[in-house]
Amino acid sequence: MAEAYSFRDRVSTVEADGRKRNWMYPRFIKGKLHKYRNIVSNFLLILFLTGPFIKVNGEQLILLNVLERRFAFFGLVFSPQDFYLFVLGMLIFIIFVVVFTVIYGRVFCGWVCPQTIFMEMVFRRIERWIEGDGIKQKKFDQSPMTANKFFRKTLKHSVFILISFIISNIFLAYVISSDKLFEIIREPISQHVTGFIAIWAFTGAFYLVFAHVRELVCTVACPYGRLQGVLLDDDSMVVAYDYVRGEPRGKLVKNKKSATEAADDRAAKGDCIDCGLCVQVCPTGIDIRNGTQLECINCTMCIDACDSVMDKIDRPRRLIGFMSENQIKHRTPFKAGKRIYGYAAVLVILISVLGFLVLRRTDIETRVLRAGGTIYQVREDGTVSNLYNAELVNKTSKPISFTIKPEDPNVKIQYIRNVDRLDRGASTKITFFVIQKQSDIKKYKSDIRLNIISDDKTLERVKTTFIAPAN
Ligand code: SF4
Ligand code: SF4
Repeated sequence: MAEAYSFRDRVSTVEADGRKRNWMYPRFIKGKLHKYRNIVSNFLLILFLTGPFIKVNGEQLILLNVLERRFAFFGLVFSPQDFYLFVLGMLIFIIFVVVFTVIYGRVFCGWVCPQTIFMEMVFRRIERWIEGDGIKQKKFDQSPMTANKFFRKTLKHSVFILISFIISNIFLAYVISSDKLFEIIREPISQHVTGFIAIWAFTGAFYLVFAHVRELVCTVACPYGRLQGVLLDDDSMVVAYDYVRGEPRGKLVKNKKSATEAADDRAAKGDCIDCGLCVQVCPTGIDIRNGTQLECINCTMCIDACDSVMDKIDRPRRLIGFMSENQIKHRTPFKAGKRIYGYAAVLVILISVLGFLVLRRTDIETRVLRAGGTIYQVREDGTVSNLYNAELVNKTSKPISFTIKPEDPNVKIQYIRNVDRLDRGASTKITFFVIQKQSDIKKYKSDIRLNIISDDKTLERVKTTFIAPAN
């Protein structure tokens, strides 16, 4: 029994004596799932590469400017005042990932995560073009240095640096905006020293990750992989080996004396012919036949590999497939448990709340407060005034001209400091008196409403208090 679990005593990416890293040379196998994964990856790569350069309502499709705390998603601009929406959005994203993981395991890692997409679909692909497939690469690395090896290694790393440089630029375009990135590119370096350093620092970081650190990001650094233990249960669909069908595994014995003997031999064994192809294609170097493991990023390469073997030996596909433990053990179909319904209900509620908050979000955010340290001023013309400070933020991607108008026509405004136009994303402060006839005032403290109007449209209604000696 202890022997059966001995694979847990070591990690696949470190050699058995624990001294050296076990460099991965995964073999490449074409298959149906890889074809679908290719389509998904290409779509996501195009989205990533074009995202900062597509404009909707004058704003980047996606902008994550954490430095200036300004975010844009599909034409909607979010400023620091919308931080609660951002927090809610993040919460929804986390719960969505949790629900998805409970049902489909770590498929996000293998199919959607940028680390895997760049590593497996871009960098490894280039490596295969230059150095050949897994086994060839291993031999190439172990061979002595020749002019050919020097040329290929230099070419590979130069292309890796170039792609890292492109990723770095795109990444910065998401953070500082594509317009600022173009400024850094166009203008002299002396005017953008920090931006220039940032581009090369990120280039170095991406190169290090994709050329050297590689799968260790998923197996050692990424906290999401470590959450699997608490998120997965026996109903979760994960990349799994059907041990009921596959065991006892055994090599395909050729040269049997008769067809009956060969058939008897197969009948005595399970469908796994112990060819090891599923291990050879695994980018994290694990043997999925040992069961669900933290290192499995659900890339589905082993499914394609095993399917190709099953085709050759004329056995049904999906000895390795997307299956739950209950499906394998009890041969029962997938069923959603109470936990899934619970998470899904919370998700629906949070999405509804977010939708409601986004819809009632105003173009201008206004805060009006009575000036500190003042009460009211009784004027000689029989009116009473209160002094106010207002702070306005334009949350749209276009300039807005506006006026502040009291809802009650008998209430007047006298500006001390007025601004009637706000640039995109800008904020301003205005100081003004609100004036009312003393004869209209019935109590010491009353509410007044002010409308922020632009092009005859009320952008926002704000309520504040007005104090005056009561009649
Ligand atoms: S690829 Fe399939 S048949 Fe070959 S070892 Fe893996 S599970 Fe067994
Ligand atoms: S076990 Fe299969 S799905 Fe998991 S990482 Fe390895 S090849 Fe990918």
